[in-house]
Amino acid sequence: MSQDVIEQLIQVTYLAAAVLFVLSLRWLSAPATARRGVWAGEIGMLLAVVGTLLHHEIVSYQWILVGFFLGSAIGVPMAVFMPMTAVPQRTALSHAFGALAAALVGTAEYYLHTSDLSPFTMSALALEILLGSLTFTGSLMAFGKLQEILPTRPVTYKGQNVVNLSLLAVAVGLGVYLVANPGATLLFPLFMGLALVFGVLLIIPIGGADMPTVISLLNSYAGLSAAAMGFVLENKLLIIAGALDGASGFILSVIMCKAMNRSFTNVLFGAFGQAQRGTSGKGEARPVRSATPEEAAAILEAASSVVIVPGYGMAVAQAQHKVRELHDALTKRGVAVKFAIHPVAGRMPGHMNVLLAEADIPYDKLLEMDEINPEFGQTDVALIIGANDVTNPAARHDRSSPIYGMPILDVDKARTVMVIKRSMSAGFAGIENELYYLDKTMMLFGDAKSFVGNIVKALSGGEHG
Ligand code: NAP
Repeated sequence: MSQDVIEQLIQVTYLAAAVLFVLSLRWLSAPATARRGVWAGEIGMLLAVVGTLLHHEIVSYQWILVGFFLGSAIGVPMAVFMPMTAVPQRTALSHAFGALAAALVGTAEYYLHTSDLSPFTMSALALEILLGSLTFTGSLMAFGKLQEILPTRPVTYKGQNVVNLSLLAVAVGLGVYLVANPGATLLFPLFMGLALVFGVLLIIPIGGADMPTVISLLNSYAGLSAAAMGFVLENKLLIIAGALDGASGFILSVIMCKAMNRSFTNVLFGAFGQAQRGTSGKGEARPVRSATPEEAAAILEAASSVVIVPGYGMAVAQAQHKVRELHDALTKRGVAVKFAIHPVAGRMPGHMNVLLAEADIPYDKLLEMDEINPEFGQTDVALIIGANDVTNPAARHDRSSPIYGMPILDVDKARTVMVIKRSMSAGFAGIENELYYLDKTMMLFGDAKSFVGNIVKALSGGEHG
């Protein structure tokens, strides 16, 4: 094949990949088309890789193959063995590797072409190195915090924000100097080193509770770094894919901040998760009402409407299949069952949707917060399975609460509230939930999977008895 034909083929492959990436994002935004979205993304990526491998600049495939097998040896076990509940930290690791790749490619380009870098290319390269390096160390820190290898609480000291911003200012200053004087090669490692240190310092004052939002922001930085790399390498597909990644990560962070009623500045500089952790848990032991699976089954069976509220505990217990059995058993008895989905229930956006879809619960039974909230007033039973913060009424009225202003599911408006959890322990925000002390609330203490299983058993026992 002539060089021209190969070049045309690469461009067509890239165009098809870009279209598939856009379609993938579009389809991923609705449960009914999400599977197709995953396929589109995967085929798009395959086309992008194949197109890139056709480039005539590639002299030998040997190192590419080494990288391919090494990457697969790390990536495949990560995808197969990491549990659903560890997806945030898995994502953090992927961002770390992606950002490191961008920073390393940038470094190679800098040293290979130092003498002929135009100011535009050098600007893109500096941005690529800055974002790639800080995202690399920042994502590793986020991984460490979520995996609890590092302390999850915010690590703070006086004047921290001034120190961090000064360091960033020096790094940006060096970047600007390098754009004007690309030949100052000795400054380059210093520039990169400062960006790496800034990534660490940026993340240590942020508490574990805010890590998922931070990861999504780091995702955005990694995307922007890749887009800058696209300008350096004059690769249009990389620019498109990086821009899509950068924009979608940013939009996701905004959605998460809104759902938690937090501002970006508060997430990045607020050291959330510090003060309230101390106030959590213990306190004086106030009385609560508890019940057995049999009692819960009797109440659920007599209800005409039940709204199930899943949360992080359902994910940990992997109770979604038992929840499906409960849904089926109640529906069979003529009870109208719906599911209330809070935008930040669980540990990542869409966490509950994915789990419930895995258990084949019909999509039309899943209602978003704004749709379901007006219905709680006419609901007989709100059954909360491993959710906590997203149901805490303090968010509506207690100005001193760290979650004040966060939109919540109005479960306390239902006639009866049932809460399945193992103890009186706090949720992610580390605060007590006043819902548990209401007269209408019954605490169902136990692991979500076994408790729901026991309710189902009690229901079918009643059927045969
Ligand atoms: P949550 O407030 O973290 O509470 C989960 C509850 O599940 C805990 O109180 C725990 O109580 C219970 N639990 C744990 N394991 C269990 C098991 N095996 N069986 C039964 N119960 C179990 O969860 P949430 O209501 O879903 O709220 C999510 C929180 O994460 C919010 O604060 C949100 O802001 C934050 N967050 C979410 C995202 C996101 O994108 N989804 C991002 C950032 C932050 P016990 O220990 O007593 O069992």
